[in-house]
Amino acid sequence: MDLHRAKMLIILLTAVCLLLVTLFAFCKQTWMLMGGAFFFLLMMLVRTLFNRCPHCRKPLGDHTGVRCPHCGKRL
Ligand SMILES: [Zn+2]
Repeated sequence: MDLHRAKMLIILLTAVCLLLVTLFAFCKQTWMLMGGAFFFLLMMLVRTLFNRCPHCRKPLGDHTGVRCPHCGKRL
């Protein structure tokens, strides 16, 4: 999975997680909270595995710049 797709997937998983947790606040359905926790863990897994520099493979974390903070190559 390339970096762009990984970032889009992270955004999507975070949005679903927030939606489910917000719905849980109103509906008090336990499955919504469990679903939110599941999507949060899935997002963390995708972030850990795929949010990496395609050149040096080091994790990017919250970095949003155009160049890798480790090797300096264009992302
Ligand atoms: Zn790099």
